[in-house]
Amino acid sequence: MKPDNLNTRTNSYSARNTQGMATLRDLQFALQQKIEELRQRDELIDDLELELDEKDALIQKLKNELDKYRAVIRPATKQALQKSRQKRLGISAESAQEIEDAAEALKRYPKPQAARECIKNAILDNDFMKNLELSQIQEINDCMYPVEYSQGSCIIKEGDVGSLVYVLEEGKVEVTKEGKFLTTMTHGKVFGELAILYNCTRTATVKALTNTKLWAIDRQCFQAIMMKTSLVRQAEYVDLLQKVPAFQQVPEETINKIADVVEEAYFDEGEYIVRQGAVGDTMYIILKGKCHVTQRQDSSGSTVKHTKTLTKGDYFGQAALEGATRSRIFNNDDIREANVIAAEKEGTVCLALDRDSFLQVAGHLDAVISKRAEEKIKDKVDTEFAEIKLTDITVISTLGVGGFGRVELVSVNGHNRTFAMKQLKKKHIVETRQQEHIMSEKRIMFEARCDFIVRLYCTFKDDKYLYMLLESCLGGELWTILRDKGQFDDATTRFYTACVIEALNYLHIKGIVYRDLKPENILLDTGGYGKLVDFGFSKKIGHGRKTWTFCGTPEYVAPEIILNKGHDLSADYWSLGILMFELLTGSPPFTGPDPMKTYNIILKGMDMIEFPRKITRNAGNMIKKLCRDNPMERLGYQKNGIKDIQKHKWFDGFNWEGLRRRTLPPPILPQVQNSTDTSNFDDYPPDTDPTPEDDLSGWDKEF
Ligand code: ATP
Ligand code: MG
Repeated sequence: MKPDNLNTRTNSYSARNTQGMATLRDLQFALQQKIEELRQRDELIDDLELELDEKDALIQKLKNELDKYRAVIRPATKQALQKSRQKRLGISAESAQEIEDAAEALKRYPKPQAARECIKNAILDNDFMKNLELSQIQEINDCMYPVEYSQGSCIIKEGDVGSLVYVLEEGKVEVTKEGKFLTTMTHGKVFGELAILYNCTRTATVKALTNTKLWAIDRQCFQAIMMKTSLVRQAEYVDLLQKVPAFQQVPEETINKIADVVEEAYFDEGEYIVRQGAVGDTMYIILKGKCHVTQRQDSSGSTVKHTKTLTKGDYFGQAALEGATRSRIFNNDDIREANVIAAEKEGTVCLALDRDSFLQVAGHLDAVISKRAEEKIKDKVDTEFAEIKLTDITVISTLGVGGFGRVELVSVNGHNRTFAMKQLKKKHIVETRQQEHIMSEKRIMFEARCDFIVRLYCTFKDDKYLYMLLESCLGGELWTILRDKGQFDDATTRFYTACVIEALNYLHIKGIVYRDLKPENILLDTGGYGKLVDFGFSKKIGHGRKTWTFCGTPEYVAPEIILNKGHDLSADYWSLGILMFELLTGSPPFTGPDPMKTYNIILKGMDMIEFPRKITRNAGNMIKKLCRDNPMERLGYQKNGIKDIQKHKWFDGFNWEGLRRRTLPPPILPQVQNSTDTSNFDDYPPDTDPTPEDDLSGWDKEF
């Protein structure tokens, strides 16, 4: 209405003007009127903006209500499940021991060259599998076995548990999901690949439209290949490194780490690897091929003398590192004393180790070892809890439900505070082959004495369940708070990230990798401080050691876990970067409609992610430094260890001492009336299977 009005008036004014009747007063009057109109318009805009804000707030409130509601009531359809903001469950493959056994017994299936080509091309065409190394692809090719399906038969059924990945060599298949057609596939396609990463249910159905010829490989065999290839390589590198005199006094864990940072470098025949007189900071060990060493005889450089030939296992350029081992602040680069020239027709391959990588590894280990000496665990047995029996415990209400257990708030006879009790169904543990993980969860939590880790006081078991009596944290999950607030500001994120860093630091010093970082596993105590809970995937691996089991939560797993390269403590730093991103924005950086898509996005790397403006420059910089594809480059895993994170600009001025002493005021102070107040937790329906089958097989003796 307003604009029309305005036009009419303007028109009438110009009409008068053309008649030559415009006086200054008329003009002033018109101007006055216009100013008034503009003012009214501004007022209207303000009102509308206010209304919009109110509506936005209402939408957010309704959304939160809806999320809360959805979090406790299972949505009817899978799509609804994906759309709502759901807690994420951890996933895990079987333990490394089973894989090691499988590696012993890898079976190869001879096949025609055409089939080998088809398999190789299919793998190189697949978003996930193309990331594997060529030697691994070759082994997978060797181990794939033939299967045939006749027209009309079902190859993969949605909802079934899968363990095979297929390459389609001949024929045509149709893919459907919930009865709806998705696509068809022909010759040269890979399908079912999520199943080789871990135990999972199939997300779609694949039917043979014609008679089909396929090649298949199962998860254990795939993982055995992945583990074997990296172990074999590691062993070969370690063997070569140990023959270098400069490394003979170096402890094994350091050598293992050095083997991780060396890189294979390839040189054509005649190529100079090092040149006399040039500066260099890299040493080389010959892995394959040979090199000639030559030296200039006079200052004009005219006479060149061939001094010797080097072959596999020989090394050169070590002066570059010897300086480094003598002094941490060595600055002068090594001046090369001779030329070393690649001399093998098929090419020469060397292991290259540069001074920076070497220092990072050696320095980091020094720091860790000295810290470990400082750390004296008071393994004080809690006599207070030695006498408690299962019959002393009364359930008050449910605090949470995870993938493996239900956690109840309980009271204990003779104690005037409350506890959280995690109950795990033994049968379910066995079915999902998590026995080893549960034993490790108990061991690690039982020993942990850190203000940023939930305490485990004692455990019980009966025929159906394992029980863990835990310190209760009644402030609720960080996940719930994040869901209700949408996102956190920089300061709130910094505080909870710092709590997590303290917990990770404690674990890493003990050589424990956590592997399940996410807001769901961070609880607030009544003082508003964050604590890590759920050690179902944590494992003591030691320093300079790797582990292979696929586990974590899809959005949070590091690329080396997805690629089955073997991972170590540095996987937690990757997840820390993801956590920061999620806390600052409300959602993690890598998300896909299904886990396999999420993994493929993760493999593309953090550089592909656009950072929203709400992530400040310093925060963004830290996230990028934590989420480096190469685990050895991640902040926190270098020579100064976790200190590098604490010293990062994003933490400038942060009161670490106050955090440790718990004098720093928390950004969120939860409302907790008394020790039975569970209002910070969602409501959960009762267990649908309250009387699971007994398990008397005795695997839980040590629990
Ligand atoms: P996941 O699927 O994450 O592996 P899980 O089955 O191993 O889960 P937990 O994560 O240990 O189980 O616990 C599930 C939930 O129970 C937690 O997310 C939390 O809400 C609640 N919970 C666990 N321990 C405690 C505690 N000590 N105090 C309060 N609540 C707790
Ligand atoms: Mg959990």
